[in-house]
Amino acid sequence: MNNCLFCKIANKEIKSDIVKENKNIIAFKDVNPISPEHILIIPKVHLSDTSMINEENSFLFSEMALMANEIIKDFNEQDNGCRWVINTGKNGGQSVFHIHLHLIMGRKFTWPPG
Ligand code: AMP
Ligand code: ZN
Repeated sequence: MNNCLFCKIANKEIKSDIVKENKNIIAFKDVNPISPEHILIIPKVHLSDTSMINEENSFLFSEMALMANEIIKDFNEQDNGCRWVINTGKNGGQSVFHIHLHLIMGRKFTWPPG
């Protein structure tokens, strides 16, 4: 996708603070963190939102989850718990239309969200 911010981050056209990367997935620090540790985990291929997940590409979603657990261990947060968030579409509050998992850690979160 030509004009997608997160595609550009995945392609290294735009610099980011990369936390972990493998063939299909990349994780980088959110520029506007809402917790002491706020990481975004994305597939390198462009999927605009959760409605794009299908039988052919859903393995990417599993790979994102596996990477999230690796990062949680790297940050030594496995015993503290954390929050995984995916905002999807207008009502979900999505602002960057390349699917991303927010991994937010390092403080206690409340429920329900705003
Ligand atoms: P969402 O509102 O769920 O679409 O989340 C988009 C997230 O991307 C926000 O938390 C932003 O702070 C974050 N963000 C926007 N631009 C960048 C960037 N260049 N590098 C890292 N994170 C970004
Ligand atoms: Zn994209």
